[in-house]
Amino acid sequence: MRARPTRHALVTGGAGFLGSHLCEQLLADGARVTCMDDLCTSDGSNVDHLRDDPRFSFVHHDVSEPFTTADDVDLVLHFASPASPADYLRLPVETLRVGSVGTWHALEAARRTGARMVLASTSETYGDPQVHPQPESYWGHVNPVGPRGVYDEAKRFGEAITTAYRTAHGVDTAIVRIFNTYGPRMRREDGRAIPTFIAQALSGQPMTVAGDGSQTRSVCYVDDTVRGVLAVAGSDLPGPFNVGFPEERSVLDIARAVAAAAGVDVPVESIGRPVDDPTVRCPDITAIRTALGWEPQVSFADGLARTVAWFRQTAPASLATV
Ligand code: NAD
Repeated sequence: MRARPTRHALVTGGAGFLGSHLCEQLLADGARVTCMDDLCTSDGSNVDHLRDDPRFSFVHHDVSEPFTTADDVDLVLHFASPASPADYLRLPVETLRVGSVGTWHALEAARRTGARMVLASTSETYGDPQVHPQPESYWGHVNPVGPRGVYDEAKRFGEAITTAYRTAHGVDTAIVRIFNTYGPRMRREDGRAIPTFIAQALSGQPMTVAGDGSQTRSVCYVDDTVRGVLAVAGSDLPGPFNVGFPEERSVLDIARAVAAAAGVDVPVESIGRPVDDPTVRCPDITAIRTALGWEPQVSFADGLARTVAWFRQTAPASLATV
């Protein structure tokens, strides 16, 4: 097991939802943090509260373009990528570039500095799975030429090149396959189910559920995901490790739970199911639980209450009284 704590982390995509929580936790743990982000799916406000900390620096840069880093970087967390379907469908080529060329640059940075490099991969590497729940040994069921292929295949390539840098160049790498995560700092308009439902519920609009809502998801509160990622980062294990909440719910149940947490009674409206939308999704977390003792601690009810409270606090003035 890797004993030394992180001294200087480079977090690509550090201004995004997960990245900003990682930057915050790394600073709290005593590390210096360089956050590199091109702000293509964020606006920088997630890290505004960190900017006065002298151990934090922000670099506005596209990681698909070459970059250099300080020699003392000892951890690279590669989290840069459009992540919501709305974003990667709007930015298909950029998504493929950051998963491929961007991952290559992150690996080169780790190779040069001798840092450990952790790749943010995704449960989407399992595609529309035919094995359920999904263990890391499952290779997945992905349509490379469907609309979601730009994201899924970028991440699958990212995993392959990360593995190749470990075997061919001896870089200390790890892969985390993150399942759907929710919490404060998600964008209301990013198209993912939970922020969409919360924004709709808080503004008294019908909640739009894809299809009949019987498709399942497993959703993990952000604090748990961050703890899981940093547990892997702090070890010397290569993974891949699933990081997710092994409790499966239908999308319709998630919508109803959001309405209950927001204390509103809004109707549910069915909209078209996206192409290649996975039918089921649930992580098998035996590997990370056994190797690192990690498992989620925040219940769905608690996580949802905290997330709804944050969305209420940060609601545009026109919604603040709802
Ligand atoms: P996000 O959109 O909130 O954050 C992504 C950040 O990456 C944004 O700040 C964006 O501006 C930045 N970025 C994108 N392309 C870039 C580039 N070329 N150069 C520099 N910065 C770039 O998304 P998120 O939910 O925080 O996801 C972060 C990472 O975790 C992604 O790699 C995503 O694939 C992975 N992930 C997230 C989830 C989840 O549920 N949130 C699940 C699985 C995997």
